[in-house]
Amino acid sequence: MPEKPKAEKYLEKIRNIGIAAHIDAGKTTTTERILFYTGKIHRMGEVDEGSATMDWMEQEKERGITITAAATTVYWSRGAEEPYRINIVDTPGHVDFTIEVERSLKVLDGAIVVFCGVGGVEPQSETVWHQADKYQVPRLAFVNKLDRVGSDFFRAVRMMEEKFLQKPVPIQIPLGSEDDFRGIIDLIEEKGYIWIDETLGVEFRPVPIPEELKTLANEYREKLIEAAADFDEELLNKYLTGDIILAEDIRRGLRKGTLAMKLVPVLCGSALKNKGIQKLLDAVIDYLPAPTEVRPAIGFHPKNKSEEKRYADPKGPFSALIFKIANDPHRGLLSYIRVYSGKIRQGDTVLVVPLMEKVRIQKLLLLHANRKEEIELLSAGEIGAVTGLKEVKTGYTLSSITNPIAFEPMEFPEPVVYIAVEPKTKADESKFFQSLDILAIEDPTFKIKIDPETNQTIISGMGELHLDILIDRLKREFGIPCRVGKPQVSYRETITNEAVAEGRFIRQTGGKGHFAIVTLKLQPIAKGVEVYNEIDEGVIPKEFIPAIQQGIEENINAGVLAGYPIINIRVHILNGEFHEVDSSEMDFRIAASIAFRDAFIKAEPTLMEPIMDLEVVTPEEYLGAVIADINARRGKVLRLETVKGHRIIYGQVPLAMTFGYATALRSLTQGRASSSLQFSHYEKLPEEEKVKIFPSLPTF
Ligand code: GDP
Repeated sequence: MPEKPKAEKYLEKIRNIGIAAHIDAGKTTTTERILFYTGKIHRMGEVDEGSATMDWMEQEKERGITITAAATTVYWSRGAEEPYRINIVDTPGHVDFTIEVERSLKVLDGAIVVFCGVGGVEPQSETVWHQADKYQVPRLAFVNKLDRVGSDFFRAVRMMEEKFLQKPVPIQIPLGSEDDFRGIIDLIEEKGYIWIDETLGVEFRPVPIPEELKTLANEYREKLIEAAADFDEELLNKYLTGDIILAEDIRRGLRKGTLAMKLVPVLCGSALKNKGIQKLLDAVIDYLPAPTEVRPAIGFHPKNKSEEKRYADPKGPFSALIFKIANDPHRGLLSYIRVYSGKIRQGDTVLVVPLMEKVRIQKLLLLHANRKEEIELLSAGEIGAVTGLKEVKTGYTLSSITNPIAFEPMEFPEPVVYIAVEPKTKADESKFFQSLDILAIEDPTFKIKIDPETNQTIISGMGELHLDILIDRLKREFGIPCRVGKPQVSYRETITNEAVAEGRFIRQTGGKGHFAIVTLKLQPIAKGVEVYNEIDEGVIPKEFIPAIQQGIEENINAGVLAGYPIINIRVHILNGEFHEVDSSEMDFRIAASIAFRDAFIKAEPTLMEPIMDLEVVTPEEYLGAVIADINARRGKVLRLETVKGHRIIYGQVPLAMTFGYATALRSLTQGRASSSLQFSHYEKLPEEEKVKIFPSLPTF
């Protein structure tokens, strides 16, 4: 195992962060302001006008949600010191895109979580928070919108105390509130800061703490020092002996507590009214980790699957994860990468895993909000984009040829819902297919195929909303309005019993004939698909084994009962017979296929349906109606919670019963409830449903 190397200086000056929030809490506005104050854009785009810089996808502007994970580089320095490079990875705000959320959490080292000063900790912020816990991402909390009527910084902090594992520690308190919100009191420096509206908040100046806030400020400063002292000996000693405590003592303790995931510094402001952002950037530098301060990246060897670690060391073997692919109108496909170890230069050749192909890197780019900068080199700990990779997908690894590593599982979840789609005008057809291909490269959970019987184009994905958004993107981004069919469930086939069958493919009618016999045993298992060759060596020539495996695989992908992929099965290749002259690989493929289908039918096959996790937030008065509706959809309620007079229902519903749910919920609750759905697992399709959906299938 490699030793942790000594950190290089440049790495201390890098922060890879994400900004996460409940929809509408102000993530876009906060990001915009960060870009503005770091000097990257010169006119502030207001979200409400739909010109926010990060929201470059047309359709995102309309929905007001951010579903891509583009990365933007900015520079920030405190005073005269050399600037830090902050890479902001845009995390999708919608829980339906969990894979994207999780992947972006993986490539960042720290996060700012934005809360609405009025709503506080809303259910979706909780989901994001728990995901960040899972990936051990240290965080800052920014309580935004403190200019709004009804906002309350201290209530938001209390909600964090109730809901989060980490202790929220205000390092600021608001100066003024609602209409009169003017700035913040910095509890570490013991002064106030007021932003000057006329300069769009570019200028802000220190002011003494107003008399009426002194007691409160002292109380919170005391709490802050106590919390920080738990993590720093020197500060603790000073605190206990009544010595003078310096700002840097507090910052040091807070930093340690934050990196240890025990504390969360809480800041306040109003992004819209241009207050508090510069202090938030200071806090990113002060409390969020450099790439060297996080755990090493863990992957596995693509061949022998043993665990591999990569430390943020530019001298180590090169490794990087492709966390986003986006189509750039001028440069073609851009692959956004996080480099974990080593370095790459333009023209280097690297290995693409899992393709196991060597490719040459054309250009390396740093992405700024409104321009791209070509650079020579990307080193460990950095985030940027590369051009020239054609066959890659999101989630692939780039690695050194001599030290290969894979950072993600080789397979992505199979889509659960599909829909037929065609361009409204025939003339759009070739553009339609090109655009679909681009979307599929960007998003590995989105698949395209042509139905061989109807010749229709079928697209599939992880949920109804997922496909809705893709169809919307076709229209807005690519200019191709489409007609779509009804969403359909992608069922799975499986077996409930064990069975053995022999497949014979023998034709001997003069000339070279065909001869292959294959015996297979199928067994149900809890998860996955496994194929074992158990034919003793020498029984049949070894080139026929891959042909048998291919025959099995074709059936697993295409299904036997109703054309759906087969899951939860173990296949043992027990025996085979061949003929010196007549046997060919094709014969073995066919014999294996016959054996598989026979055994499958004998093994009491059944259909499995996708079950979705459902989360509904509703006012109390609609609780009964919402639950009754869930039950009517063959769903079940697993848990109920109460937050601020709202009820949160956690349940599960078969995917087939969720189509149009968002609309139904709206009319059931006069638009006052919200919901999210996400694939959970497969369950046996109840017999009475099977009869309805597949009347021609036999009952076993
Ligand atoms: P996102 O969905 O989290 O990206 O939130 P946006 O940045 O799009 O903000 C949602 C809405 O809240 C927009 O109408 C913003 O103008 C508004 N908003 C954002 N920040 C503030 C703030 O500090 N104060 C007020 N009053 N409104 C804000």
